[in-house]
Amino acid sequence: MHSLSDKFIIVGAGLAGTLMAWELEKRGVIYEVWDAPAKTTEKTREKTPSSKPSQNKASQVAAGMFNPVSFKRLVEVWNAREHMDVMLSTYREIETFLNLPGKILRTAPIMRVFPNVQYRELWEKRINENHNVAQFLAPVSDNAPDDIIAPHGFGVVPGAGWVDLPLLLDSFREFIEGEGRFVEKVWAQGEKANFSKKTSSKLTPEKQTETPHIIDCRGIGAGEDLAKINLKIQADHGEILTLKSMVNTNNMCVNKVKWLLPRGNDTFKLGATYKWNVEDSIPTQSGRDDLLNSIKPIIESKIFDNFEIIGHNTGLRPASKDRRPYAGKISTSLTSSTTYVLNGFGTRGVLIGPANAANLANFIFDDVELPSEINVERYSPPRD
Ligand SMILES: Cc1cc2nc3c(=O)[nH]c(=O)nc-3n(C[C@H](O)[C@H](O)[C@H](O)COP(=O)(O)OP(=O)(O)OC[C@H]3O[C@@H](n4cnc5c(N)ncnc54)[C@H](O)[C@@H]3O)c2cc1C
Repeated sequence: MHSLSDKFIIVGAGLAGTLMAWELEKRGVIYEVWDAPAKTTEKTREKTPSSKPSQNKASQVAAGMFNPVSFKRLVEVWNAREHMDVMLSTYREIETFLNLPGKILRTAPIMRVFPNVQYRELWEKRINENHNVAQFLAPVSDNAPDDIIAPHGFGVVPGAGWVDLPLLLDSFREFIEGEGRFVEKVWAQGEKANFSKKTSSKLTPEKQTETPHIIDCRGIGAGEDLAKINLKIQADHGEILTLKSMVNTNNMCVNKVKWLLPRGNDTFKLGATYKWNVEDSIPTQSGRDDLLNSIKPIIESKIFDNFEIIGHNTGLRPASKDRRPYAGKISTSLTSSTTYVLNGFGTRGVLIGPANAANLANFIFDDVELPSEINVERYSPPRD
């Protein structure tokens, strides 16, 4: 267990690192955040900058959606209730802290367009049987917005929404930068990690000599190091389009496996593809076609034909072996300081991140046992 006066360096300023920073901030712990510089410009870029794991910033690409329901089998996702509750309160707290009320956490109910009658019946059955997932479902409707084609009707998940991740990350970074505790730097396991001179100068002489502990939140940038201790991070490639359109979805996110999420000012995110074993995170024609073709059947053609693509982005999602986060203390002979890890957020970082960052912080500072399903020890037992 660590005392609140111990020093920490959080490596990675994506969603995982930012949520960890928030946990430390709340406790008044002394910390710095280190993050690799963003992609180089056209002029200075080497080969393909996006192929560098340290430059992958999944959180800056993500649509930021949260949804407590898995539409595949129509059941609630892992720990849906707890994760939703912690998620809502955490992002609200951060909004207040950053003086951005109502700007980061946004509501956008999801309108699931039924693919066939059987799916409609399943939706009704879940509600009638009072299945666990029913707490997140609204009754079947046939009253679709004019621009949406839903011959079998649709169901709504009213509590779904999205988090403006670029706003959250950039604003939190701005705050830490203002305190002089943000360092742009690429770090690898085993490298010396000391506080910057600026932060050190503010500490007492005894504190200055102490080695900071590390919280590794590098997403796929940690892949090589974590693989050495049997924590496999798979890089799951995703593509996403930004569109301008006059489509009216009644502020709902329209879902038919792929989804169209309204972001205000007639702008929408259309996502997301999902591919394994893609080495270069670059936009592809096939990804673009896949996204457009999948949503085309449920959008009135006169509206669909006027979609204007204004952005096409890609990223690599850090996924664990069993689709549960990796959280805990890791054993490495390379450093004298203690190293913790928070990674493996996969496709649902926004929803699962806050509760699991809190779990790791409770473990580090309050000696609360980590839930076994996220504890790194399930794959990487401690060394003597
Ligand atoms: C197309 C797409 C759409 C998505 N949509 C959603 C969505 O709607 N909802 C949702 O919940 N999730 C979504 N996700 C998944 C989401 O992006 C991830 O769950 C989450 O962002 C992972 O956060 P992270 O902090 O672990 O990783 P990252 O965001 O990748 O952050 C890692 C950080 O560590 C830094 N770093 C790496 N290596 C080093 C190093 N050696 N030294 C210093 N810094 C380093 C990186 O530069 C980066 O800033 C989507 C992902 C993609 C690709």
